[in-house]
Amino acid sequence: MAFPLPSTLSPSKVSTFKDCALAFRFSAIDKLPEPSSVPAVKGTLVHRALELLFATPPPARTRDAAAEHLAAASTELQTDPEFVSLDLDSEAAEAFLADATTMLDRYFAIEDPTSFDPVGLELMLEAPLGDLRLRGIIDRLELDADGELVVTDYKTGRVPSQQQELSRLGGVQFYAWLCEQVFGKRPARVQLMYLGPNPQVIIATPTDQSIRGLERKVAAIWNAVERACEREDFRPRQSHLCNWCSFQEYCPAFGGDPSLAPAALHAAAEAVAS
Ligand code: SF4
Repeated sequence: MAFPLPSTLSPSKVSTFKDCALAFRFSAIDKLPEPSSVPAVKGTLVHRALELLFATPPPARTRDAAAEHLAAASTELQTDPEFVSLDLDSEAAEAFLADATTMLDRYFAIEDPTSFDPVGLELMLEAPLGDLRLRGIIDRLELDADGELVVTDYKTGRVPSQQQELSRLGGVQFYAWLCEQVFGKRPARVQLMYLGPNPQVIIATPTDQSIRGLERKVAAIWNAVERACEREDFRPRQSHLCNWCSFQEYCPAFGGDPSLAPAALHAAAEAVAS
């Protein structure tokens, strides 16, 4: 009996498969829940504050307004299950908000928020590639002075090393490809805006070659996923990423048994239902 094929692929799932096929299986096929993390939820908060800021007319995008949007986003977040599950005490919650405030300060240091007018914020785009559907969320889409599309993706983690940067730029081609498919127009540029320490903007210019390269790469990964599903063969690949992997309990590299993962999910779903 083969594993069921996932119906869509996103940039993060593509990189999960490249990093470790077994982690991909746990996440995309077994759909094991992954505990929320402080950096991820903090990223959600900053994305939401910026979304609220850019939804207002350019003259209203002041630093004070950003602070108000952050406060509103933080209030929204208080009932979000991912935030609640972090179970932060008051000191940790204060530090969490202070970090988010610092990221907004960094944003204002690297971009003038009145210099553009978005045509889309937090846009979910999806398009077919062969018998597969690719999907991704674009943080911000705007038109430049020449009427060309510009995609912006906020990154709330550290600026990547040179090698990691190459893999992030693979994600950039993914966004460019989605825009081309959905809007019939390739973005003139895709910018990754790093709001962590050493804030900066990394700009990529998609080309025919880079887009076709993305299609080939995704098709090859999809073939590998199909093969692994057919053979029920998703192998662990140990790396430094194991330190943050929430699937160690079921990973043979850590003494776990992958065959117990679906049963664990079933038991968790029953516990929630009862
Ligand atoms: S612990 Fe490491 S090897 Fe095991 S599934 Fe997670 S990333 Fe893969």
